[in-house]
Amino acid sequence: MLTPNAHYAELKDSYLFFNIAQKIKAYLSSHPGERVLRLGIGDVSLPLCKEVIKALHEAVDDQASKETFHGYMPECGAPFLRETIAAHYLKRGVKLSSDEVFVSSGASDELGDILDLFDRSNQALIIEPAYPAYVDASVIAGRKIVHLPSGEENGFLPGPDEKYEADLIYICSPNNPTGAVFDRERLQAWVDHANKTGAVILFDAAYEAFIEDSSIPHSIFELEGARTCAIEICSLSKTAGFTGTRLGYTVIPKDLVRGGMSLNGMWVRNRTTKTNGVSYIIQKGGAAVFTDEGQRQIKENIAFYKNNARVIMRALDEIGVKYFGGRNAPYIWLKCPGETDSWKFFDRLLNEIRVVGTPGAGFGKCGEGWFRLSSFGSPEDTSLAAERIVALFS
Ligand code: PLP
Repeated sequence: MLTPNAHYAELKDSYLFFNIAQKIKAYLSSHPGERVLRLGIGDVSLPLCKEVIKALHEAVDDQASKETFHGYMPECGAPFLRETIAAHYLKRGVKLSSDEVFVSSGASDELGDILDLFDRSNQALIIEPAYPAYVDASVIAGRKIVHLPSGEENGFLPGPDEKYEADLIYICSPNNPTGAVFDRERLQAWVDHANKTGAVILFDAAYEAFIEDSSIPHSIFELEGARTCAIEICSLSKTAGFTGTRLGYTVIPKDLVRGGMSLNGMWVRNRTTKTNGVSYIIQKGGAAVFTDEGQRQIKENIAFYKNNARVIMRALDEIGVKYFGGRNAPYIWLKCPGETDSWKFFDRLLNEIRVVGTPGAGFGKCGEGWFRLSSFGSPEDTSLAAERIVALFS
């Protein structure tokens, strides 16, 4: 008799965004005509940049004639894009061969699929508060999770701890939801730890484009020893507005070997079995992100979101509210003023000033008492929300 994967029953219901939507709906139905200011969103609001749109149009035209048409693409990515991404890393001093870069249709897909490389008995360490997909993908795979709590005392950037040993280590920097970023020294401690214990770090760099301090590493491979212990999962979603277009890439160095097996070689085998590659058109659009003009244009968009972040940070500074993030990340993680229950704080902001954010409790137990505001909204809504927050807490 067929047996379903019983681990699905162990998943906690994801109430977070559902609850938020329900609360907004209830508020609006009892306050018809009112407008709420949404600072909870994790999606981008600006369209794709012109350079990407031009490349997408050209690629569509390529598909219209026999000479330039592309059918199935190579499973691990088109050579033109793999080479372009490797060249982009080289500008930061990271030497990769193009076959260490795997093109994907986004970080979410990879964060789940990559677990195929590891035995189910391997434990996964998740630094909390965390992006919920890490927990859920590990639960579905039947993997034991070691929850490493973080907090104000370590700036939400805990270091390795013998009490929290695991085979896989998720690190997200810049972090969603806390906006905290690992500097070289703190990240090096994790790399050294993984090399010592044989663990593999899954480094989620989805927000690397938001880093503005030159001392902060964009890639884990900027650090000594990372080639033997890390996989980097990247996305063009927030970097270049590809949330709905779908494109990402994953770096697996050839030096990453466990139990005598090359994880790079295993991933080639996995991709050639489980995918038929990412669309030619989308990969052409993605390659345009890495041209000089593409980089200039995406940086303009990121600066737009960063302006929103500054408006929020200024408001919090004015009322003396403690927060993390904002500077090298699109998220601002604030300590709920006068309140330890982040859902109560959510209700207060919604009902008293019509501002929506994301309660920290939705990202793990140690997120309680904290609240995430996002800089992906419109400047008008962001400024108005900031003014209302200042007025409410002054
Ligand atoms: N990783 C983190 C930390 C994220 O916040 C997100 C999306 O919000 C993703 C991965 C998923 O990115 P993608 O759109 O490439 O699937």
